[in-house]
Amino acid sequence: MTANPPHSDSTPELMIEARQLTRTFRTGGGPFKALKSVDFAVRRGEFVAITGPSGSGKSTLLHLLAGLDQPSGGELRFKGIRVDQDSARQWALRRRSQIGIVFQFFNLIDNLSVADNIEVPALLAGHRPRDARDRRTALLDALNLRDVANLAPARLSGGQQQRVALARALVNQPELLLADEPTGNLDSQAGREVMRVIREQRTPSQTIVIVTHDARVASQAGRVITMRDGRITGETEPGRDDEPRRTLTPIFDRERGGER
Ligand code: ADP
Ligand code: MG
Repeated sequence: MTANPPHSDSTPELMIEARQLTRTFRTGGGPFKALKSVDFAVRRGEFVAITGPSGSGKSTLLHLLAGLDQPSGGELRFKGIRVDQDSARQWALRRRSQIGIVFQFFNLIDNLSVADNIEVPALLAGHRPRDARDRRTALLDALNLRDVANLAPARLSGGQQQRVALARALVNQPELLLADEPTGNLDSQAGREVMRVIREQRTPSQTIVIVTHDARVASQAGRVITMRDGRITGETEPGRDDEPRRTLTPIFDRERGGER
């Protein structure tokens, strides 16, 4: 009996793996392939940006990674576990404690105060009330929201609202932070502030995937993936322009050599 060769200790752990992931929408004009066989992987602790023209499938892909939508085909793994067939309930539980999500248009709960918007997800995730309160206080301070803590979100500027949304997403210290155009509705100053908070609040093991049109946002990522017409068309590492472009396939070959 021959044992499989052990994985090397330096093999990075994969947070996300997508294999031949597709999403086809039914439309009045027939099926529309918004994602056409997407293969990619994100290692734990990576900061990845996804860019591409409007309509290229960026949000569709991010929604699949968040479990807010189901793929039409292919495989999706989260920390090595197949999740593409998981139920809405399984995904809701996963999002509650392991995945933070930020959208372009904030998605705050308007009849709750700023402070409660931040605290409620911690309570829902099962933290003790005292712990949830401590986390809320720490985030209000860190994100410079103390003065507006008791206001309704609608009273805040766009930049402030996005920082509340970020605090909500971070309150349970998610392993994976997903953001869809988080600066897309902000002026450049507020956008910079949001990115600063993302960088400052980040823990070494936290994985970040940001969809963005903004080259300045993308340049902060360790790896930039470009999409076009439902496919991944390129990949670069900002600040490492002299390096040859690496394709995505070797990650799979390395991590799971032998399989298929
Ligand atoms: P991006 O975020 O890159 O701008 P999207 O992922 O939102 O692009 O959309 C990709 C394509 O899929 C677009 O042509 C869009 O119109 C289409 N699309 C997205 N969602 C749906 C849907 N629910 N039904 C039909 N078509 C959709
Ligand atoms: Mg989009």
